[in-house]
Amino acid sequence: MSRVLIVGAGLTGSICAFLLRKELPNKVNIVVWDKSRGAGGRMSTSRSPNNPSCTVDLGAQYISATKYYAHIHSSFYEELLAQDILKPLVAPVEGMMSKEEGIVNYVTPHGVSSIVKHYLKESAGAEVLYDRHVTHIHRKDAGWEVCRKGGASQQFDVVVLTMPVPQILQLQGDVGSLMGENQRKKLEAVSYSSRYALGLFYKADARIDVPWAAKYVSNNPCIRFIAIDDKKRNLALKNCGPSVVVHTSVPFGIQHLEEENNVVQPIILEELKKVMPELPESDSIKCQKWRYSQVTRSVADCPGQMTLLSQPLLVCGGDGFTHSNFDGCIESALKVFEVLKSSL
Ligand SMILES: Cc1cc2nc3c(=O)[nH]c(=O)nc-3n(C[C@H](O)[C@H](O)[C@H](O)COP(=O)(O)OP(=O)(O)OC[C@H]3O[C@@H](n4cnc5c(N)ncnc54)[C@H](O)[C@@H]3O)c2cc1C
Repeated sequence: MSRVLIVGAGLTGSICAFLLRKELPNKVNIVVWDKSRGAGGRMSTSRSPNNPSCTVDLGAQYISATKYYAHIHSSFYEELLAQDILKPLVAPVEGMMSKEEGIVNYVTPHGVSSIVKHYLKESAGAEVLYDRHVTHIHRKDAGWEVCRKGGASQQFDVVVLTMPVPQILQLQGDVGSLMGENQRKKLEAVSYSSRYALGLFYKADARIDVPWAAKYVSNNPCIRFIAIDDKKRNLALKNCGPSVVVHTSVPFGIQHLEEENNVVQPIILEELKKVMPELPESDSIKCQKWRYSQVTRSVADCPGQMTLLSQPLLVCGGDGFTHSNFDGCIESALKVFEVLKSSL
């Protein structure tokens, strides 16, 4: 049995684990490491510290299926719809611009991280470990020695990297020297937008009386998007109040990128008051900095993955190798899986 390490418990990593388990059930031991404390990555769902049933999606908001992707990824959509992990978006969204005709939007009643959790659950037997921050990868014997912050290193036969491209470039050990000059140039040219997200949680009796569930804001220097998250997900929760997510604009995110969250949070709240003066006082707030939010330039001329070494196999995937959404992650995970399948 080959020991495969997947770095990243976001959507790409979880689908890689799912495909390995489903298609090569007796060939691999799957281990997933993520530096954070839970699954989701940029498809993260946060809970109110005062009421765990009150949640907010800080990253991805809804899943938009174009006709093309709804067709080629139909098995993924059908499975998630059959399990009620995806539901059609029915709530009103102001200012949403459709890039093409025929797009169908979906929401996740249990929060967007429920998609990632589903794929991890379906990777039965995979060892999924959090607080595992990979720092170095060394070639050792016929495989890889992977080092992490504050813990012992481990050996693997195959390593799959699914984090944002700049975080791949930060890895130490042999990763840098294994890259060809052309590969390095392509990875260094990848760029991401940056923005902040605020999650606001309210007490059960709070009311937010607006005619929309989500809204794109175009006339504020700080705020770009607001969603009444429970309304967007079409929930009628009895024991908890509403939750609101606010995304800043990218220029604001870039301008304040190196500042601390506790400095930026009051600025966003001040601007939010201007956009929604009627918003009641929240019970608690979570501020998230997305340094690597959405890919603005993906890896050029790339088949959805980049193989840094074939023997032993070290392969990279993620939305940086395709595009930043649900289908981009599936597309990359399928390409990574093709490489894994041919080498295992
Ligand atoms: C604000 C925002 C809004 C978005 N809106 C939408 C939307 O509406 N619809 C949509 O489809 N998509 C949206 N996206 C994009 C979507 O969220 C991403 O494309 C997708 O989640 C990327 O998944 P991934 O697995 O490739 O990467 P990630 O989710 O980034 O997963 C990578 C994982 O690797 C981990 N990691 C990083 N470095 C290390 C390390 N050294 N060691 C261990 N672990 C590590 C991270 O903790 C992370 O969990 C949005 C994203 C953001 C941020």
